[in-house]
Amino acid sequence: MREELIEKIEQLKRKKNAIILAHNYQRPEVQDIAEFIGDSLELARKAMATSADIIIFCGVDFMAETAAIMNPDKKIVIPDVGAICPMAQQLPAEDLLAAKREHPDAEVVLYVNTLAESKAIADCICTSANAQEIVNAMDTPTVLFGPDRNLAYHAQKTTTKTIIPVPEHGLCPSHHQIVLNDLITAKRAHPDAKVIVHPECIPAVQDSADYIASTSGMVKICKEAEAVDELLIGTEIGLLHRLEKEAPEKRFYPISTTAVCPQMKMHTLENIEAALENEKPEVVVPSETARKARKAIERMLEISH
Ligand code: SF4
Repeated sequence: MREELIEKIEQLKRKKNAIILAHNYQRPEVQDIAEFIGDSLELARKAMATSADIIIFCGVDFMAETAAIMNPDKKIVIPDVGAICPMAQQLPAEDLLAAKREHPDAEVVLYVNTLAESKAIADCICTSANAQEIVNAMDTPTVLFGPDRNLAYHAQKTTTKTIIPVPEHGLCPSHHQIVLNDLITAKRAHPDAKVIVHPECIPAVQDSADYIASTSGMVKICKEAEAVDELLIGTEIGLLHRLEKEAPEKRFYPISTTAVCPQMKMHTLENIEAALENEKPEVVVPSETARKARKAIERMLEISH
């Protein structure tokens, strides 16, 4: 049954000149049928580089919107519109405008995990891979940064600029499942393992890690770290599937098995097949919002290659 469904998906992809892009946190079976797996920035870049007419985007809303913003001439389809990132929802455009009024001399850097309307107000976008570089490249000594307070903490470590988080307590509910006690317990069970965590983790967890990296940065470090056989992984557990596939000689342990993003798991083989068949639900960003948001994304791409 599953094989038949996968065969149907493959046929539809060929017939419609479509590809599937999947985020590193997707279900294993979704990762396995994707043309490309990556983090949000890589997926947006891949969407720009493909000659496919239809992109089935297996990620959350802000990622599909970013792909649509950067590819106005392509059809971006998200299999389940319920895949809405709760962190992105924490910074509505009106709250950002209020913060700007309060700090008129500060440039605004927004994590790519934001709504398109908020991106349209930002001076520059960043990802978890380049947040430190982007903040340092801003022209003002004070930077408004949102919506993830933990990523702001990570960025603050390498800059003399004053970073003001907006909102004050923005966070990813899935990464907040990873607490210091989990890390201590995991370390006790695997004393020789290196610890690698995502910058959406709380400061205490970041400060106890050997490496801090974006999901694709984690994959690279895990594959390339010589003389490291075991790693404790501090991010959404979907990344484990990719790590186990791409570095089968190493052993990976999640720091917390409850670090699951339910929104990322909403795409299934069944709704992907339906999305390919019906070419919807399509992700459309209003043109004026897209134009302004694209400017902020392009500034990031100019700074960070
Ligand atoms: S893992 Fe966190 S930041 Fe990523 S989509 Fe899920 S809730 Fe949003």
